[in-house]
Amino acid sequence: MTEPERIGRVVIAGGGTAGWMTAAALTRRLGPTGVSVTLIESSDIGTIGVGEATIPTLRRFYARLGLTDAEVMGATEATCKLGIRFEGWSGAGSAFLHPFGLYGQDLDGVGFHHYWLADRARGAEAPLAAYSLGASLAEAGRFTLPSPNPPSSLSVFDWALHLDASRFAAFLRAHAERGGCQRIDARIDGVRRDPAGDLAAVVLDDGREIAGDLFIDCSGFRALLLGEALAEPYEDWGRWLLCDSAFAVPTENAPDEAPPPFTRVTARSAGWQWGIPLRHRAGNGLVFSSAHQDDAAARDELMAALPGAPLAEPRRIGFRPGRRRRAWVGNCVAVGLSAGFLEPLESTSIALIETAIERLLGLFPGRVIDPALRDEFNEQTAEEMERTRDFILLHYLLSDRDTPFWRDARAVTPPDSLVRKLAVWDARGEFVRYRWEMFHPASWLAIYDGFGRYPRMLDPAVAAVDPSRLSQSLTALRATVARAVAATPPHADFLRRLDREIAA
Ligand code: FAD
Repeated sequence: MTEPERIGRVVIAGGGTAGWMTAAALTRRLGPTGVSVTLIESSDIGTIGVGEATIPTLRRFYARLGLTDAEVMGATEATCKLGIRFEGWSGAGSAFLHPFGLYGQDLDGVGFHHYWLADRARGAEAPLAAYSLGASLAEAGRFTLPSPNPPSSLSVFDWALHLDASRFAAFLRAHAERGGCQRIDARIDGVRRDPAGDLAAVVLDDGREIAGDLFIDCSGFRALLLGEALAEPYEDWGRWLLCDSAFAVPTENAPDEAPPPFTRVTARSAGWQWGIPLRHRAGNGLVFSSAHQDDAAARDELMAALPGAPLAEPRRIGFRPGRRRRAWVGNCVAVGLSAGFLEPLESTSIALIETAIERLLGLFPGRVIDPALRDEFNEQTAEEMERTRDFILLHYLLSDRDTPFWRDARAVTPPDSLVRKLAVWDARGEFVRYRWEMFHPASWLAIYDGFGRYPRMLDPAVAAVDPSRLSQSLTALRATVARAVAATPPHADFLRRLDREIAA
């Protein structure tokens, strides 16, 4: 076997969350093999500055960098997140939690929800969330670390962070620079291509050229390299997801109010509002459809519903849901907003950055790039993004809110991949699973249940269980969850303990 010539120089264009996450991971993994990593960012342009709610995969990402929860949380004013609370999505006053965790206990290969639905059909009223430790802790405002050896699936839950996006990028920058990443503060004005059409160098505003073997486009929505220089087309998903705009505004925390251990997403007239609790402030914003609400009305709706005093003027951000047709073209790979964007309803963008980085490391090419690696990367990226899109779209399809926006959002023709999932769920409460899905059955169950979408038929095995024994078992399961919740301290106590750990 002859080893192909190795890549020696990686150039990252952009230093937002995507750029610094990529730089930190690549310097750690490839630095020791002699690969140089250079990141170019322009402090005149700045970053998007939002992106503060995450999912649990983030914790595994930074653990692979050798970073602990306490280090990251201390550096980013983070709070803990057990899930997302959807408020007003299925009627005024409604609320449900999408936890990072499981529900109940399956029995003989039959999903727990079949038993719960059978009990419910006989008049039982306990909500599904009463069988999820993650959801119950979140609703109670309590937090503890999950047991590494949970006694049963009933206690299986996971957690993520709410973090300050700018501090997170700065923290990762320091980490990457310690690992040997070189940073250049300059504006990229263009590129130089080699005779084969690949990127040879990026050209800076002072005339310097930074040459590389592999280029990572982390330049945000503009997609300087993949979009502008290489003209890779953008697949617009606006026919499915109608929101295309946001206003973002930070607010002061109320002095005596403990931060909830969940992200809040509240349905509004032409979109939804996010609430992200941090330790030093809260992040808020309204995601809306500009075809259904003008800027002034959106801004007013957000400002009227802020949880505290604003710390800045609301900032408008426009976006197009969708993705670049291919995320990797020639010797250029897009990571982050340059590769595509889905509204932050399920906090998926940073997670998509993590998976892109993992995928790139797993398929990292030689100097002459084997097209098989590129094709695999592109296929996995496309499928993962499409499945995430389907999950987000599900929320709109199931909502029964009644304004022009919500009616239009529900009236879209869903992609076949989602139609198939819904049909199998409706028929008998089962989950169709595709490759590269970020959200597992428990997440789909949380959303179906939250919107009251139940199957026409249950697994026949539930008929074999004596109803009163089933009801007794379910009561016992609920009691186990309730006891665990009662024994868990408030989220604020956990954060105070963390502060002491950081200070020590
Ligand atoms: P950016 O932050 O835009 O960074 C781009 C970088 O490129 C900057 O450093 C800039 O200086 C540099 N650059 C651009 N042009 C040039 C040039 N010519 N020369 C040199 N440098 C250049 N994600 C989540 O996971 N959770 C959330 O809760 C969430 N909320 C969001 C809310 C909204 C409204 C939006 C729009 C996004 C949200 N996201 C969220 C997505 C998240 O913000 C991004 O995925 C994340 O910040 C990564 O952005 P980025 O690094 O790709 O781009």
